[in-house]
Amino acid sequence: MLQLNNVDICYGSFKALNDISMVVDTGELVVLLGANGAGKSSLFNAISGLHRPSAGVIEFEGRRLNGVKASTIVSSGVVQCAEGRKLFPQMTVLQNLMMGAFVHRRDRAGNRKRLNEVLELFPILDDKAGEPAGSLSGGQQQMVAIGRAMMSRPRLLMLDEPSLGLAPLVVRQMFETIKQINSLGTTVLLAEQNAFAALKIAHRAYVMENGRLVMEGDQATMLGNEQVRKAYIGA
Ligand code: ATP
Repeated sequence: MLQLNNVDICYGSFKALNDISMVVDTGELVVLLGANGAGKSSLFNAISGLHRPSAGVIEFEGRRLNGVKASTIVSSGVVQCAEGRKLFPQMTVLQNLMMGAFVHRRDRAGNRKRLNEVLELFPILDDKAGEPAGSLSGGQQQMVAIGRAMMSRPRLLMLDEPSLGLAPLVVRQMFETIKQINSLGTTVLLAEQNAFAALKIAHRAYVMENGRLVMEGDQATMLGNEQVRKAYIGA
């Protein structure tokens, strides 16, 4: 579904991504592990069209994404839920969710159906629909951010650190919901520092260090790998 071949990203003379090659197959839930500054957000921004790669090729369903406008990439089914939620705090929960439907604004019936599906995933947002998004708890705001991304009808959903700053119980529910989104048919690429919880729901994972992919494996291989356990799980 998604294929990257030898992708580099530079900020001035600094190479933040170095020779990245990876694949995500349809239906998979793939985790990208890496410490702060490893390059996970840069990789997502390259796929979303927010940063132009200085080398390499990015393809989604056989079509090249390099140089394609970010809004066109969203319309083609690649949707990013960025780190830090980036909600509109004064707007209501419903208005925030509907922002995600902008690319499909002519399909009102489709958007209504989609909204019901999103509210089924996150029932609490139905109760809070008329409240300003900024008044919600951190976990609920993260639900709005994921819900808004789902309103864009992703075929590939990219989640950047959704567990950041959330309480452990909320984190557990968040990962359950991500797993559910994947089981319902959305392919997921998940960047996380919460390695154990992320690997438990993943089919496969990549490990990124200093802008390079240094390891790849399926869930069992990664959970059993001593280097991964020491560096990312702390066990
Ligand atoms: P985090 O989880 O902290 O966001 P990350 O793994 O997502 O980390 P990136 O944000 O992609 O990492 O950053 C990768 C490297 O690129 C870091 O060294 C960072 O300082 C640098 N970097 C990121 N954005 C820019 C920018 N706009 N200009 C210059 N350097 C940048």
